[in-house]
Amino acid sequence: VPALSVQDLHKTYDGGVQALKGVSLEVRPGDFYALLGPNGAGKSTLIGIVSSLVNKTSGQVRLFGVDIATDRDAAMRLIGLVPQEINFNMFEKPLDILTNYAGFYGIPRAEALVRAEEELKRAQLWGKARTMSRTLSGGMKRRLMIARAMMTRPRLLILDEPTAGVDIEIRRGMWETLREINAAGTTIILTTHYLEEAESLCRNLAIIDHGRIVEQGPMRALLARL
Ligand code: ADP
Ligand code: ADP
Repeated sequence: VPALSVQDLHKTYDGGVQALKGVSLEVRPGDFYALLGPNGAGKSTLIGIVSSLVNKTSGQVRLFGVDIATDRDAAMRLIGLVPQEINFNMFEKPLDILTNYAGFYGIPRAEALVRAEEELKRAQLWGKARTMSRTLSGGMKRRLMIARAMMTRPRLLILDEPTAGVDIEIRRGMWETLREINAAGTTIILTTHYLEEAESLCRNLAIIDHGRIVEQGPMRALLARL
């Protein structure tokens, strides 16, 4: 079954803005998938619906075969979300941020410690595990956000413009962490308005504009046509 299957998705916000006008797409397990498009295209709305934060107007969304409309809790357990804004407590240490997050999801303390070490190493933060987060660099803070989302071992990691407004060095560090996560088997979907980012990271993509998919397919095939 696909990691994500979206069929004829429509979203009209209160007030009448038609953010999505019949979007269909499929993301295979293990894929690294980009939703590329300009501001206002509908990317955040699509991601919001997939992660059950925004209600759809019509259409169907399935995560690993689970319909989000009929089994929202099961669907939410399959995904990890990396919010755009850094929202952890700056006065906590990375290790505590990760284990507290795991605790919130009912993961036993011993298991949480094992996972935290693994995620901090993967995000190249193990050396900073017990450092006050406030003192971490911008790139480290961003990678900590990714590490935290991985604590629940999601099958699909979703990121909404993960590198918006960050400089190229920070972006490259985040890309490296994301590549490792994907190489270890987690499906990743990210939204971006940087073609360079989609090109560097993703195998498949959809280009979205004015609430519609205008192009869809393997990155390489698409680049050949641009
Ligand atoms: P993107 O993420 O590609 O920038 P969005 O999904 O944020 O696009 O927005 C798509 C359209 O929906 C835009 O016209 C935006 O102004 C509108 N929109 C987004 N969120 C809301 C909301 N909560 N209420 C009303 N309109 C919204
Ligand atoms: P993004 O850059 O992630 O698409 P935006 O800056 O467009 O986000 O929107 C920020 C927040 O404002 C989001 O929660 C979005 O849903 C909401 N929003 C965006 N456009 C509108 C709108 N036209 N009316 C009401 N809320 C909106």
